[in-house]
Amino acid sequence: MKPLSDLEVWFATGSQGLYGEEALSEVAANAQRIAVYLDGAPTIPVRVVYRPILTSAESIRALCLEANAADACVGVVAWMHTFSPARMWITGLQTLQKPLLHLHTQFNRDLPWGEIDMEFMNLNQAAHGDREFGFLETRLSRARKTVVGHWQDAFVAERLGWWTRAACAWREAHRLRVARFGDNMRDVAVTEGDKVEAQIRLGITVNGYGLTDLVTAVENVSEREVDATVEAYEASYQIAPTLREDGQARAALREAARIEAGLRAFLAVGDFGAFTDTFEDLDGLTQLPGIAVQRLMADGYGFGAEGDWKTAVMVRLVKIMAQGLPGGTSFMEDYTYHLSPDGPKVLGAHMLEVCPSIAGDEVSCEVHPLAIGRRRDPVRLVFTAEPGPAIVAALMDLGDRFRILVNEVELLPPDQPLPRLPVARAIWRPRPDLRTAAEAWLIAGGSHHTVLTRAVGTEALSDFADMAGVECTVIDDDTRVPRFKKELRWNQAYYHVARGL
Ligand code: MN
Repeated sequence: MKPLSDLEVWFATGSQGLYGEEALSEVAANAQRIAVYLDGAPTIPVRVVYRPILTSAESIRALCLEANAADACVGVVAWMHTFSPARMWITGLQTLQKPLLHLHTQFNRDLPWGEIDMEFMNLNQAAHGDREFGFLETRLSRARKTVVGHWQDAFVAERLGWWTRAACAWREAHRLRVARFGDNMRDVAVTEGDKVEAQIRLGITVNGYGLTDLVTAVENVSEREVDATVEAYEASYQIAPTLREDGQARAALREAARIEAGLRAFLAVGDFGAFTDTFEDLDGLTQLPGIAVQRLMADGYGFGAEGDWKTAVMVRLVKIMAQGLPGGTSFMEDYTYHLSPDGPKVLGAHMLEVCPSIAGDEVSCEVHPLAIGRRRDPVRLVFTAEPGPAIVAALMDLGDRFRILVNEVELLPPDQPLPRLPVARAIWRPRPDLRTAAEAWLIAGGSHHTVLTRAVGTEALSDFADMAGVECTVIDDDTRVPRFKKELRWNQAYYHVARGL
């Protein structure tokens, strides 16, 4: 079963009545075969649903209205098998509120050179039919992704797959409820943002809750629930000796489990998909939630520390995109550098809250003092992220708009063991290199908090940004600072104008 298989995209094929019934029934049969093929593609996580051929403005409009109303439909794939005069599409496309993908393909892959006749030409017209459609999409400034290639080429299904994952995240964004315990860390700038604008632009709902609400949920946890949570810890992780049955810090483990069960209950009752907390406001909680946050993230919740609701949202949305894919996704922070000329890199970590879904080695459950804040020693999971390609992405509120910033990175094993570092960590080399990437990140105003994922690539985030009409700036192997600087300036002007009055 596909991981997002309760959701679907609709496969809409454009044509016109002039071809006659016989030709149109062949168009329909071809389109159906393509839809069935794509539906079976393992890289496309949702169902691909064939829709009857569209030959009139009325049927196009009806389909678009139906797509808007269909809760399971995350987007529409449009293909002009034959010529479909695009003025028929104006009202429909103006109506359509779901993401759009323009698939530019052709039923026959090869030209039958020796046999080609006008009948073949008539039934393989996407080369000009899709140009007519592309013109209208551009004329309407209609956001869409364009994918070109034969429908059986693996990369076509792959690119469709990334887009459908982004569309599933777009759907999720409009349902996503974020709970904030405490406000932002005092005086911090980048974790702030306009929650009304975020709701208008991304659909997300962000609300604050008193710590007492959470404390009540924690107090309501039964001893039996604490036992069950501790058992889950013991079954899943290497438990440090002090936290074991007869260890001197056993009480801390039970307290951490109580906090987790309470937090879990609060989030479930309120139907939240993401949350934030801050070490500056923990009144009533004995520990800063560490293992609790880590395990909730592993279960799919978004999280941002220090009140960072924008990163919490990003973690949740990327986890939705990543469903069923190998490699994990976590909240992350650029913590410290290795600036040696033998290979500069970043050591990413946080006080506690890194998701074990990115762990490469064994995960150990430990308790240590917190270097900051005034609470009891918090229990946390300690591990090192698995090496391999990954991305880090951030969402900033620039005052007049949002910017998504992505950096492609390579996760690496540590040069040496880190026996005295009591937190989960990831070591990476940013692309194209640390010096370029960090300069570009800083001039783009990128935050220190990010979502790090090994499961999802840049393409899905870029597709998502297009759906939201939000800038997505990428730092990768092709990035050169002088050009990147210009790109930021152009974007600044573009998004200012595109927003209108
Ligand atoms: Mn932080």
